[in-house]
Amino acid sequence: MNPQHLFADERFLGVCAYCGGSSGTRDHVPPRFLLDDPLPSNVPIVFACAKCNQGASLDEEYFGCFLESVIAGSTRIELLRREKVKKTLSRNDRLAERIRQAAFVDANGELSWRPEANRVQNVVVKLARGHIAYELSTMQNEDPAKVLFFPLHAISGVDRVNFENAASGQSRRWPEIGSRAFLRACGARPFADQQGPWVSVQPSRYRYSVDQHGGIRVQIVISEYLGCLIEWN
Ligand SMILES: [Zn+2]
Repeated sequence: MNPQHLFADERFLGVCAYCGGSSGTRDHVPPRFLLDDPLPSNVPIVFACAKCNQGASLDEEYFGCFLESVIAGSTRIELLRREKVKKTLSRNDRLAERIRQAAFVDANGELSWRPEANRVQNVVVKLARGHIAYELSTMQNEDPAKVLFFPLHAISGVDRVNFENAASGQSRRWPEIGSRAFLRACGARPFADQQGPWVSVQPSRYRYSVDQHGGIRVQIVISEYLGCLIEWN
């Protein structure tokens, strides 16, 4: 079975997953820039209008470069690991400088980084909307009730366990029949690389979970460094 073609999707043909407008393009969730080459063959794809598809691409580039710089503790090309980020920062001096300016030494004498929160939020909410469309075959175009992003190592033991296990809570609402979440709840595993409640898009680079618990909660882990939690009531 090809998980990219489920019958629930028929109603979504031509509908943008982000704004509900008419779509003319397809969008990878997550975008390619957040994954390494070669891309996995099963990157989720949703329908999107050109505006939503392209509208976040600069923020996605910033986000990917910022995150990699924080992990490396530097914007120096030779210290970065991800090839796409190295290429982008070596030809985009303005972006590299902008990220460098975000670094500061905090009160404890440690190197810290101040993200452009609105840009990170744009990216994270778009990712969550894409995962919801793909997993639940529903659309969520209202503003989320909660958006959190944090380094995983910064949350304490119990919070970390809760975060890792939150996705495994049995859904109180059955997902849309025919949706991918429905198949997962039935025990079908359309992805060979699904680990427990998390869907691993690319090992050590990107995993996510979508859970319905009255509202909808999306959790994302990027580069096993950044945790994101986005909730709709
Ligand atoms: Zn759109």
